[in-house]
Amino acid sequence: MIKAENIHKKFGETEVLKGMSTDIKKGEVVVLLGPSGSGKSTFLRCLNVLETPNEGDIIIDGQHLPKTEKELDAWRQKIGMVFQNFNLFPHKSVLENITLAPMTIKGVDKQTAEQEAENLLNQVGLLDKKELYPDSLSGGQKQRVAIARALAMKPEVMLFDEPTSALDPEMVGEVLSVMKQLAKDGMTMVIVTHEMDFAREVADRVIFIDQGVIQEEGHPKDIFEAPKSERLQQFLSKVY
Ligand code: ADP
Ligand code: MG
Repeated sequence: MIKAENIHKKFGETEVLKGMSTDIKKGEVVVLLGPSGSGKSTFLRCLNVLETPNEGDIIIDGQHLPKTEKELDAWRQKIGMVFQNFNLFPHKSVLENITLAPMTIKGVDKQTAEQEAENLLNQVGLLDKKELYPDSLSGGQKQRVAIARALAMKPEVMLFDEPTSALDPEMVGEVLSVMKQLAKDGMTMVIVTHEMDFAREVADRVIFIDQGVIQEEGHPKDIFEAPKSERLQQFLSKVY
């Protein structure tokens, strides 16, 4: 479903991604692991074309990297993204946060958008919060709204960049359990996380990135129990 071929990304003289290639199948859950600064966020941002690769190609559903605004819009509609810091619209209610993009970008009518938003809020356990503003929600609740908002565009793949890293420990579980359910329902997901137990349980494949290249990838059982490269062994001994 997603094919990344030889992705290179430079910022100035610094090459952050040095030729990343991988295929992601429909319904697959891929966890990206790697030390801070290894290029995980940059890779996700390339998938979403928030960054344009200097070299290489990405193909999603047969479509190559967008060259026109119209292609870019179509590309972004296939991809939902959830960030560490939620990025909710502060002056809009929970419901409005979710209905805004479907109404303005896809032209969905208000009644339909609200009905779908309520279904999604129900799915993430927050239907009773629909009239509230982001400020009055906990971090875990904000992140669940952010997930519902991304899902409202009916994406084909969901990207998560450290979705629980900004949360107090007691709120991590509620967000991970929403993500687990999404995985069970067959959503294609690419997740950057440091939650190793979650990665082990939910990932179909783990990709370990260091210094802008994929150092090792495989089934979580192999990655965690029998890491081959010295770099991965070192990384796991520090974090797990
Ligand atoms: P990770 O998410 O694995 O921690 P990032 O992809 O955020 O790593 O960053 C990889 C490297 O690229 C880091 O050294 C970072 O400082 C650099 N970098 C990321 N974004 C930019 C940018 N917009 N401009 C310059 N350097 C950047
Ligand atoms: Mg990052």
